[in-house]
Amino acid sequence: MNIIDGKLLAANLRAEIAEGVAALKAEKGVQPGLAVILVGDNPASVSYVTAKEKACTEAGMYSREIRLPAETTEAELLKLVSELNADSAIHGILIQLPLPKHISEKAVINAIAPEKDVDGFTPVNVGRMLIGEDCFLPCTPHGIIKLIEFSGMDIKGKSAVVIGRSNIVGKPVAVLLSRKKTNATVTLCHTGTPDIAKFTREADIVVVAAGRPGTLTGDMLKPGAVVIDVGVNRISDASKPKGFRLVGDADFESCSQVAGAITPVPGGVGPMTITMLLWNTLESAKRGV
Ligand code: NAP
Repeated sequence: MNIIDGKLLAANLRAEIAEGVAALKAEKGVQPGLAVILVGDNPASVSYVTAKEKACTEAGMYSREIRLPAETTEAELLKLVSELNADSAIHGILIQLPLPKHISEKAVINAIAPEKDVDGFTPVNVGRMLIGEDCFLPCTPHGIIKLIEFSGMDIKGKSAVVIGRSNIVGKPVAVLLSRKKTNATVTLCHTGTPDIAKFTREADIVVVAAGRPGTLTGDMLKPGAVVIDVGVNRISDASKPKGFRLVGDADFESCSQVAGAITPVPGGVGPMTITMLLWNTLESAKRGV
């Protein structure tokens, strides 16, 4: 059984991205710039944003951190997004979610110019992805495809099951796996699927993104399957300094005995999400926004 090392793949890709950034600076005098907006001080969001800024700087990109108080109004945020849309030093705009309840996430995301939407969340990018046009692919789903390829599996002709149908993970993963380029046959499972194991037992690839520990267990897998565990769940654990540990949606112990390859949590999908954000920011700068 192979543990798919997301940290290693991320480090390899980040080194390639840093080379691309250096080449763009040398040839065109352009430094890719990412604006990261955080509203409020949700501890998980603060740590995600800090990691994104650090990765951006390490790749040689310009990172503009914009940290706003929780009382920021929707109108103020929309004005800021509009200014960043027009700012030629900024090639990508990222708004850390969730936003405070009084701000419409939909309104703010929709205000990002599609050519700076490096998260791939705007309806224009999602639509372009669906119809196979050039676009920014959403970061976590794109990273998942890279991880499956990195496991050594040739996706073409394989049968894949995706558990979870969120707009940011499950649905786009199903779309990407079923593109002609990857050519998998995909089944999308969710809480309305009566017997998920019936599908997973036939699958060569299982992507689990349910946000529930133990959603996938070894007895649900076909021997040799590739398992991508997207879930990040906090489990109370008094023996840990922070009082919790992170687990995925797959029961690692039983799944790793049956799977051919599996991503760990942490160290699997997580590092790839930020990497694909850097990827999209470099692409945006190359397009000469
Ligand atoms: P979400 O919006 O809560 O969606 C969860 C999906 O899973 C829903 O479609 C839900 O079905 C389905 N589901 C929940 N429990 C299920 C069950 N027992 N059986 C079958 N389907 C079930 O979550 P998300 O945003 O997609 O995130 C999923 C997980 O991935 C979370 O743990 C999140 O923290 C993690 N995540 C990690 C990264 C990363 O970079 N590592 C990035 C994004 C998300 P219904 O639609 O029927 O309710």
